[in-house]
Amino acid sequence: MFIAELRQQLKGGEISARELIEHYLGRIESVENTLHAYLEVTAERALAEADLIDQMRAEGKPLPPLAGVPIAVKDNLCTQGIRTSCSSKMLEKFVPPYESTVTKRLWEAGAVLLGKTNLDEFAMGSSTETSAFGATSNPWDPSRVPGGSSGGSAAAVAAGECIAALGSDTGGSIRQPASFCGVVGVKPTYGRVSRWGLVAFASSLDQVGPFATNVADAAEILKVISGHDPLDSTSINASVPDYCSSLSNSVQGLRIGLIKECFEQKGLSSEVKTSVMTAANLLQSLGAELLEVSCPRFNDGIATYYVIAPSEASANLARYDGVKYGYRSEGANNLAEMTSRSRAEGFGSEVQRRILIGTYALSAGYGEAYYKKAQQVRTLIRRDFEKAFDSVDILLTPTSPTTAFSAGKHANDPLSMYLADLLTIPANLAGLPALSLPCGFDGSGLPIGVQLISNVLEESRLLNVAHQYEQAAEVMANRPKANLVP
Ligand code: GLN
Repeated sequence: MFIAELRQQLKGGEISARELIEHYLGRIESVENTLHAYLEVTAERALAEADLIDQMRAEGKPLPPLAGVPIAVKDNLCTQGIRTSCSSKMLEKFVPPYESTVTKRLWEAGAVLLGKTNLDEFAMGSSTETSAFGATSNPWDPSRVPGGSSGGSAAAVAAGECIAALGSDTGGSIRQPASFCGVVGVKPTYGRVSRWGLVAFASSLDQVGPFATNVADAAEILKVISGHDPLDSTSINASVPDYCSSLSNSVQGLRIGLIKECFEQKGLSSEVKTSVMTAANLLQSLGAELLEVSCPRFNDGIATYYVIAPSEASANLARYDGVKYGYRSEGANNLAEMTSRSRAEGFGSEVQRRILIGTYALSAGYGEAYYKKAQQVRTLIRRDFEKAFDSVDILLTPTSPTTAFSAGKHANDPLSMYLADLLTIPANLAGLPALSLPCGFDGSGLPIGVQLISNVLEESRLLNVAHQYEQAAEVMANRPKANLVP
């Protein structure tokens, strides 16, 4: 069900908020054994909120914009009184004393929390396999990964276990799982959405954004969570346009840039390439113009990211020292041993790898050679985009070089896992808004995603073009059958 439909039905009395929430709880009950998208389901709270909404309806009070919309939240967003674990043993018992700004805005708009979703530990990964609490499966084929790190949110939306979900995207963690699970995922402009209450991974890259089954729903959620927040010093103080009202604009005359370097990737599957080109051609048939553009530094994104992100992570994760909060190893003889043992036991191996890489890159004598160099390349990547936007209005690429891979495929090969984000990382480095939406299926019936990237704060254009494509292509109407996708 879409948000507009739900609003209509609640208003018309065809369904009650309680019935709706009960439906989603039932769905969770029937598929979670296979999927494990949720770490915790907040059933009691959800039903209590549904009753409040039904009471408002009975009293004829006006309903807030997202009244009754069942939402799942990635478990790296703080929810007051509800465990927020980041899928890490380190935060296994952490119950935040405060609410993140994005979730606070959702609840104020009437949305209902259904539960907290699984992720790669501390959002480091591309498959949701590094969670300390077990992996999530892909609803299109449970032997495949859902992507990551927001794999739980993407899978929950795809499997009909909620209407929409929140994720976070540092290098692709919303867009890549969206593409693997056949849903829409949006990473906003850096600073558009508050990071207050998002457990920090790499603070200069992290952004929160929505997952939904169509573009209009993603636009509704984004509208509610966007906007200035004095609690986040990097939050942009600019008004938020009504993303929903521009969805129906025509794409006539729109200049779409196809980034040459993306389509020339060695690891790009031919099925993905064909499907994404078909999507571009459809937009052309709607009146857009296709142009080839070059971003010569695009391929340096991975190397740049894997210096900057671990460096920032090593600083951010220094707070987990076994003293203030989080996991503490018992029985150590002194403070140094306690800290060291807490961190060795509390963090999984991927998180430890990132901390080691980042600490090394920032250590005396190496800062200039690695961190500073990476920042310089980051500037060059941003300039490539700026130049591209001199001649086009929006950029189009595949979201991921492949469709969902088999569970365990990259488990012992971090580098091949890192390459899964080759096409999504540059937008994070440049701070640009980008989204992924379904554009087709491969021979095994797995979804393929197309990525759109627009200029800073141009989320409206991004959503508008995506919506126009979605309406014309009807990808989901022609989807292959999958047991766990309603
Ligand atoms: N997969 C990338 C990483 O492992 C991106 C993660 C993210 O966006 N949170 O760092």
